[in-house]
Amino acid sequence: MSEKTFNIIESAKAQAEYCKETGAPHFAPRGGTCWNCNKNIYEELPHRNHTSIMCGISVEEAKTQLVTGCPHCNRSYCD
Ligand SMILES: [Zn+2]
Repeated sequence: MSEKTFNIIESAKAQAEYCKETGAPHFAPRGGTCWNCNKNIYEELPHRNHTSIMCGISVEEAKTQLVTGCPHCNRSYCD
């Protein structure tokens, strides 16, 4: 497993750059705060039902993947 780093500012920037470079639509909330659950998607937090599992979008993921939903409440941003 590769190392994951979490940084809200870095990830928000990385995702904006990813969308710009790929021409993909920017679905993720600016700044990363989910309008549905109020948690930050770029922050590593325990899963709501399984507190032993940590959820969040890492800097590495924000750099290389399109964010389409919230990892905490599973709310989709693209429908
Ligand atoms: Zn959410």
